[in-house]
Amino acid sequence: MRKMAWKPWRHIFWCDGGVNVGRRLITGAAAATTPDAAASLLRVCVVGSGPAGFYTAEKVLRRFAKAKVDIVERLPTPFGLVRSGVAPDHPETKVVTNQFSRVAVSGRCSFFGNVRLGMDVSLDELRKLYHVVVLAYGAESDRSLKIPGEDLAGVHSAREFVWWYNGHPDAANLQVDLRSTDTVVILGQGNVALDAARILLRPTSELASTDIAEHALAALHESCIRRVFLVGRRGPVQAACTAKEVREILGVQGLGVRLHPHDLITSPQDLEEMKKSRSHKRVYELFSKAARVEPMTSFETGGRELSFVFFRNPTAFLPSQDGSRVAGVHLEKTILQGEQGSVQRALGTGQFEDLPCGMVLKSIGYKSLSVPGLSFDDYQGRVPNAKGRVLRSGQGTEGTTIENGLYVVGWLKRGPSGIIGTNLVDAEETIDSIAEDESGGLLTNSGAPSQTSVGSDGLETLLKSRGIPSVSFGEWLKVDATEVALGNQRGKPREKIISKDDMLNIAKHVNSSSQTEGIQE
Ligand code: NAP
Repeated sequence: MRKMAWKPWRHIFWCDGGVNVGRRLITGAAAATTPDAAASLLRVCVVGSGPAGFYTAEKVLRRFAKAKVDIVERLPTPFGLVRSGVAPDHPETKVVTNQFSRVAVSGRCSFFGNVRLGMDVSLDELRKLYHVVVLAYGAESDRSLKIPGEDLAGVHSAREFVWWYNGHPDAANLQVDLRSTDTVVILGQGNVALDAARILLRPTSELASTDIAEHALAALHESCIRRVFLVGRRGPVQAACTAKEVREILGVQGLGVRLHPHDLITSPQDLEEMKKSRSHKRVYELFSKAARVEPMTSFETGGRELSFVFFRNPTAFLPSQDGSRVAGVHLEKTILQGEQGSVQRALGTGQFEDLPCGMVLKSIGYKSLSVPGLSFDDYQGRVPNAKGRVLRSGQGTEGTTIENGLYVVGWLKRGPSGIIGTNLVDAEETIDSIAEDESGGLLTNSGAPSQTSVGSDGLETLLKSRGIPSVSFGEWLKVDATEVALGNQRGKPREKIISKDDMLNIAKHVNSSSQTEGIQE
């Protein structure tokens, strides 16, 4: 660890919560140079194999001719959010996995699937095995509303629902009841909320040819859901979704879309916001256009309907009469408050109303989780960092220090926002920090130089001694080929294997026939 103090040759700008809070300076005083880091192999471990992890691995390999990258992933399958987050009806977004696969089969990269950081291997152990550890394991939990009734049956986070329809092993047993109600309330108006609404309301005939999980397709086929309310605490100008996704949901076949024209009245602050953000302006224009069109179908006449509800903040989930599950959401009407030019926030008016429903999806944002040995900002739900360098707050008179050789990228670094491509720029910034530290001789790990077994060899030895069956990329390709073959039989691009045991069985026992052949380096 090194302290942050005056050293004119190295400085960074440290942004906290989006606000530049000043210039922080880093010293290399406490760092001991690892000779082999500069002269020979740079051993890098990336934890997490989603877009942030793979872009980082790719950029490390490009930037450092003598680097070797190991990607550690808790699931037996790679690709993180591309596999378990991107909606099944967005296949074009998943094409990026071809690029990631090329990285994985390059001679200087190894994949260790089915290895859990903090359980199978500790952060401390990884730091001893590698010169550089980059944490890229994203956000696998949810922000909470902390209001009464949040634990009622029928209240799910959108993340769980997305994992469920995308065949994530951890959501295989989620009890998604689409039969005992016709109405779902989705809280939040970001792109995840729109994805969830679209999957609930789109004809299943259009989903059948996607890679949606079989159990989800079957449940949606039998679904009684015909009405979804998308509830936002602010107005149509502030909605967090983007125009492409709004256009897509407005175009869902046979769907009546409702917006209250009164909600579309704009204030001078709203106009100011739209002047600054083209994206918000386009979304607002789409809402305005939709509000002018009389829906062809409605819930009342037996059709499917989507209602955008603005200026409503959830204050409680209402139980059914027998208390067994959710029966509605108690909402407080809001108005916007904020000076000209500043962010407008939702302010409660003291007026309430209930919105009856039989299922709720909370789509108010993902949240990262910490692991032992990692400093973590619980409030912001991310790792304190300076351009990707992990920071640790000192005790008493100790100042903030930088953790040598430990970095973050992706949602763990910046919070749960941005599209897949955002991770490219994000990874670039972290790699710049690594390169700067490497050329400054600051990459040190206490274990590596003196141990005979470091990097991949060291990790393999450690996992073997603990009986952890890690999955290599070649073994994943066997699972991949099985999924594609199963999918082909059903007219789908793939049928995802849901159970981890099944994945491991295929990875370890099915014969391999040079699965990497199709992937060009
Ligand atoms: P998001 O875009 O941050 O949206 C979160 C929503 O939850 C906002 O409407 C927000 O309202 C609301 N919210 C937050 N806290 C709340 C609270 N306490 N009470 C009530 N409402 C609350 O998050 P997301 O939808 O999870 O998406 C995450 C990122 O992934 C985004 O950058 C998104 O664009 C991206 N993504 C992209 C795609 C795509 O490109 N197709 C698909 C999925 C996700 P306020 O605005 O008032 O805070």
